[in-house]
Amino acid sequence: MCGIVGYTGSQEATPIIIEGLRRLEYRGYDSAGVCTLSGGTAATRRSQGKLINLERLIQEKPLSGSTGIGHTRWATHGRPSETNAHPHQAGPIIVVHNGIIENYLALKEQLRKKGHTFLSETDTEIISHLIEEHYLQSGNFEQAVRAGLQELRGAFAVCILCEKEPGTLIAAKQGSPMVVGLGEGEYFVASDIPAILSHTREMVFMEDGELVLFRDGAAVFSTVAGAPLVKKPRHIDWSPMMAEKGGFKHFMLKEIYEQPRAIRDTIAGRLREEEGTVYLEELRLTDKQLKAVERISIIACGTSWHAALVGKFLIEEHCRIPVEVDIASEFRYRNPVVNDRTLMLLISQSGETADTLAALREGKSRGAKNIAICNVVDSSIAREANGVIYTHAGPEIGVASTKAFVTQLTALYLLTVKLGRVRGTIDRLRGQEMLAALVRAPAFLEEALTLDEEVEQVARRYMNARDFLYLGRGINYPIALEGALKLKEISYIHAEGYPAGEMKHGPIALIDDQMPVVVLAPHTSSYEKTVSNMEEVIARGGGSLRSARWGMARSPTRRRLCWRSPSTTSGSRRSSCRCRFSSSPIISPS
Ligand code: GLU
Repeated sequence: MCGIVGYTGSQEATPIIIEGLRRLEYRGYDSAGVCTLSGGTAATRRSQGKLINLERLIQEKPLSGSTGIGHTRWATHGRPSETNAHPHQAGPIIVVHNGIIENYLALKEQLRKKGHTFLSETDTEIISHLIEEHYLQSGNFEQAVRAGLQELRGAFAVCILCEKEPGTLIAAKQGSPMVVGLGEGEYFVASDIPAILSHTREMVFMEDGELVLFRDGAAVFSTVAGAPLVKKPRHIDWSPMMAEKGGFKHFMLKEIYEQPRAIRDTIAGRLREEEGTVYLEELRLTDKQLKAVERISIIACGTSWHAALVGKFLIEEHCRIPVEVDIASEFRYRNPVVNDRTLMLLISQSGETADTLAALREGKSRGAKNIAICNVVDSSIAREANGVIYTHAGPEIGVASTKAFVTQLTALYLLTVKLGRVRGTIDRLRGQEMLAALVRAPAFLEEALTLDEEVEQVARRYMNARDFLYLGRGINYPIALEGALKLKEISYIHAEGYPAGEMKHGPIALIDDQMPVVVLAPHTSSYEKTVSNMEEVIARGGGSLRSARWGMARSPTRRRLCWRSPSTTSGSRRSSCRCRFSSSPIISPS
């Protein structure tokens, strides 16, 4: 999730690696490390915090060697610390890794039985031990890497060295990005283009299940299983700024496209599909404690508060526990009813939100148990809470939350399944169905992201509107709030989110032909009711309904509501729409 840089050639590796890591610094990380090979000896420097700490360490204790690997870490397993920082070494094998190894606990257990001792809390360290184990058997580095990688489940981009083979570097990927830069008699490998762009613009993009072996001045590509591959380099003419954003115009857009990956990482290793339940390793509350909960109080701010409102809906619906949702700054300054039978959920992307932290402390002082949902491992809220569910969104740079929000929803969904299974409100079969639906979610998101051109057209059409209204019912009401918040934050257009059923109690008075209304109307039990709300809007002159692709459209000739599917140009009133993405009709000014 964070940064990898590797180098092999005739130059000193360390300055190249450090420079590469610096170019990835904008993404955020919690620790960094470098390992180089020189004369059959590996030397590693690691340090917590900023890259400058690592640089100072290297100044004090220089590294030499023309083959090396480096890493900036965004912790997923194990707190940020020097011991948990990469590279990790087991015997002669040294590894840096981005991603999450789902089956690391099972592998760790097997390796422990074979006598391996682990020094860190990371999932990464098992990779080095696993490869070492194979190396002990075969004595062949390449074979050991291939065998070891085939036992891993999850997402990884790895760079691997072997102390006994000083001129060899192996890199491979499965689910995490990796690019190889081709130089003059030298090779670069990185998790992201900007890290190596100043050295070469000829790059090979690795695909899942592929491996590259650098040895004797050559790069040999193959599948992890060993089938040879011919890879064509691409010339990258991006400017350094463009490269940082992965070719997207801005970070928020990049992060929007990272949402499917972020959800996959958040569920990775946590589903127990057979049993229809989930495993949340850092929940740290026993089933008995979860059963004893009488009330849940969710505390959050901003976008996290919207996620909390969705959480209330999920937990009440599936677990039948009363849930209250509070904005942290309100909670901490009133006299909340919280006691030892209350479970508090604290949601914060950074895990440092001051009001949420204060609310956690307030609840703790009253005896409440608590669980944090955070994106930053070992952040203050994560540390102080009894338990934590980490969202594995990776660093979020865009100011407006996108991938962090969807992973918060994912974490709340996982918790709902856990609570429901423990308390018996979700049976095994229902649990299995819920998990299967969750597994499908990233693919739906991927499909939705292909609508970018339509989205742009809609945005162009409504860009001069001064106000927007977002409507939704049930679980979609908080999504309407979040939509309105996003529009405000990003476009500076005033927007309000409303429960659709509340329209008649006020907001309807605002509707005129200048007020676009975004309605979230999926085919749930409240679909018909939501459609009635849309009609209320139209009856008050609230704009015409146009975009066929987006669902409802007003017939230009008959001036009345029509449903249109993408394949038809006219439709009959309320015939069902075949477009999967018809769930967000836009009512626009005519
Ligand atoms: N899961 C690994 C760890 O926690 C890698 C994290 C990363 O991608 O930076 O150390």
